[in-house]
Amino acid sequence: MQSLWSDEEARACGDDALALRVYTSRLLGRDPELVLHGGGNTSVKATVSDFFGDPVEVLYIKGSGGDLAKIGPEGFAAVKLSVLLRIADLSTLTDAEMVREQRAAMLDPASPNPSIEAVVHAVLPQRFVDHTHANAVVALTNQPDGLELVKKTWGDRVIIVPWIMPGFLLAKAVRELTKDADWSKVEGLILMQHGIFTFGDTAAESYSHMIRLVSEAEAALAARGGSSSAIATADVEITQNDLLALAAARKEVSQARGRAVLAFAETGPEAAGFASRPDAGDLATRGTLTPDHSIRMKRRPVVLDGAEAVAAFGGWYGDSHTRLQKGQPALDAAPRWAVWPGKGTVAFGTTLIEAGIVKDIAEHTVRTIQQAEAAGGWTALPEADLFEIEHWDLEQAKLRGAPAPKPLQGKIAIVSGAAAGIGRAIAEELHAQGAVVTGFDLNPETPVRLGGRPGLTGRVLNLTDYPAVEQAVQDVVRQYGGLDILVSNAGIFTAGANFEYMDPANWAKSLEVNLTSHMKLL
Ligand SMILES: [Zn+2]
Repeated sequence: MQSLWSDEEARACGDDALALRVYTSRLLGRDPELVLHGGGNTSVKATVSDFFGDPVEVLYIKGSGGDLAKIGPEGFAAVKLSVLLRIADLSTLTDAEMVREQRAAMLDPASPNPSIEAVVHAVLPQRFVDHTHANAVVALTNQPDGLELVKKTWGDRVIIVPWIMPGFLLAKAVRELTKDADWSKVEGLILMQHGIFTFGDTAAESYSHMIRLVSEAEAALAARGGSSSAIATADVEITQNDLLALAAARKEVSQARGRAVLAFAETGPEAAGFASRPDAGDLATRGTLTPDHSIRMKRRPVVLDGAEAVAAFGGWYGDSHTRLQKGQPALDAAPRWAVWPGKGTVAFGTTLIEAGIVKDIAEHTVRTIQQAEAAGGWTALPEADLFEIEHWDLEQAKLRGAPAPKPLQGKIAIVSGAAAGIGRAIAEELHAQGAVVTGFDLNPETPVRLGGRPGLTGRVLNLTDYPAVEQAVQDVVRQYGGLDILVSNAGIFTAGANFEYMDPANWAKSLEVNLTSHMKLL
């Protein structure tokens, strides 16, 4: 694990604690081995002036669900430290009470909701606190002998925290476990099956502890055979029949979700290598890499091993809710990702952003669980614990607040003759209504005219070149997982002439483009 720290960049922050907090938060967020999409959280304690000019001690804590890679000062909520510490003194507290009291203690009510781990940050006495779900730490603490391994790797340089639900209960446990700590020796907390906290009185110290401890976790894994060489690779060919199977799976997942989804098939060497392992289905369905992934990935992927796979997933999901629920409402039973045996993985999402996040998490999941398996055995949290996190209202709250879906969200469209006129207007309107759109046109400017917006692309294509048309349609299916809307709009107007004087070449070209090409495209 490489440190991304730069003295020059840090100096530019001066001695502004929040600026330094933003700086190292982004460093953590930039490394996907440490932090993925909304994972992890960071804080700094500071004394600021309140509205009346009186000094008040606050915890600047990352907003819940915020992305460390892109965070700015506005991504942190300043919460009165004294209130957070009093919360940790309570014997019981409901989720709703915690959210309400944390919000009420914010200096600015316009700030984001504080992270659910705010009280954990508050009870640690150091100024800077960094928390990640680093892949190597998760792999190590999910070994059958994980506890022994953690003790052997770090000794008394870390305090070990057993699995406890994040938030209030975790904060109380951390305070209890650290009350007699010799902070001159301790560099971090290792949270079994969860992740790692590091801390320090400077941003540099806390960050460097994170890099050092995670590097040591990587070395410990590698020493047991869990280096990156444990990640399988393979080359696969995706045939037209495979694409039809992908489109069929997408359709079923869309039906289960109640909305159209995009399906990003990943068939590169690593995804194909994983999916070619005979134990891929077993490995992938033991549980999520870190518990909070369950809100985006559900507790396991569907393994596309037959026509009934998506329905069987729905059956399992519904049964597990009946079995494990303690009053939590049921969530939709559509899988968020798939293991596609022998081919790769598939990420589902109703938007490009959602499917992209799932794809990234799946990529890191299949890497890390193979390393963990090679190092002794990939275990995961028991199903009931993962269920509790997945259905925890404070976790689900991270997914709320997305804009209302557009009418064609998740739909996949092709428009021919899309470089100008009616075709271009149709392509842009379908895109504005939420569809992902690929425009075909002979005009070499097509990619530029339709480019620059996610989900709207232009491709130069001669619609009378039938092998090229077939390839272009297959590429769309491969990129998004299917095809819902085809607007066969291309047409030409040749120079007008009375019928008896018409140039036969013009006649033939007109029929080819205006009639035959539509038949071929369809
Ligand atoms: Zn966490």
